[in-house]
Amino acid sequence: MTYRRISIPVRVGKVTVGGDAPIAVQSMTKTDTCDITATINQIKELEDCGCEIVRVAVPDKEAAESISAIKKSASLPLIADIHFDYRLALAALQVGADGLRLNPGNIGNREQIAKVVAAAKEREIPIRIGVNAGSLPADFEPDAPLAERMVNMALEEIKLMESLDFNLIKISLKAFDVPTTIQAYGMIADKIPYPLHLGITEAGLPQAGTVRSAVGIGILLYQGIGDTIRVSLSAHPCEEVFVAYEILKSLGLRQRGPTLVSCPSCGRAEVDVIALAEAVDKHLKKISKPIKVAVMGCVVNGPGEARDADVGIACGKGKGAIFRKGEVVSTVSEDHLLEALMAEINSFSLEGGSLE
Ligand code: SF4
Repeated sequence: MTYRRISIPVRVGKVTVGGDAPIAVQSMTKTDTCDITATINQIKELEDCGCEIVRVAVPDKEAAESISAIKKSASLPLIADIHFDYRLALAALQVGADGLRLNPGNIGNREQIAKVVAAAKEREIPIRIGVNAGSLPADFEPDAPLAERMVNMALEEIKLMESLDFNLIKISLKAFDVPTTIQAYGMIADKIPYPLHLGITEAGLPQAGTVRSAVGIGILLYQGIGDTIRVSLSAHPCEEVFVAYEILKSLGLRQRGPTLVSCPSCGRAEVDVIALAEAVDKHLKKISKPIKVAVMGCVVNGPGEARDADVGIACGKGKGAIFRKGEVVSTVSEDHLLEALMAEINSFSLEGGSLE
């Protein structure tokens, strides 16, 4: 995959979004923003798991003012998520938000938006025009297809911001319906030069939500569309970040932490491959460097099938073979499989291997 849609980069605090910057991973806190300690703690957890930009809900003035204290302890760029009241956007800017997300369906009239744009421009703070399929005004092009309505709503807002001489813009066009989302981003991609924030909104619980997000975000990224992603799951936000990286890793767009290759198991397996893979995965969570580790159920096919793994294990009856890059390097008894695999991973890491 070599093509990437060209966009004008914008800065969100210390992170560049768009241009040729790596596709940024973002999430949103799920705490009450006014609970400053809880919000700071969650931002720290997000930072530890690789999140690069964090958004906080700003439902009222107190939440907007909390941004000031949160920013003192949080090192991730902070985006204020605003609905309904443009004055909250002004308040968030005043206390140092690094970015704004506005919902054009409900944020206010031209005059009110002009006030927000003027304040953002003065501070060089970007604004994301975050169109959501569910909150389009009912009277906005009611007969047009949904994807078209979303795009036209965004284009209208972009025109307004451009008329105010403002171009620190990002766009998102999120729907729960995956084909609608893909159509909407596809339609807008060559109409505007601004970075695109991708997401499938309200994607659901982790299992189904991960699939929906991976399909929607993955198809767009594969088409070269998208500059930052947020996976929306009914789960702890670190799960969103984990899934976001798995999507990026599977397309070869970013690297973070180990990748586990494990066979599905079949009638040839002579150990419990699923339990072993789960145990290895648990251990790999402690490693932050990129390494590809394979867990294969049989010696006959295992090493060959996982040839591109850095280190792996192929199980046999009562024992297992440790391999590197498809070549068997040692054989160990079944009760030492995990221990031997972890030792091999450590030695691979110390020798340099493919770890960077
Ligand atoms: S690696 Fe062996 S056990 Fe695993 S699926 Fe392939 S043939 Fe079956």
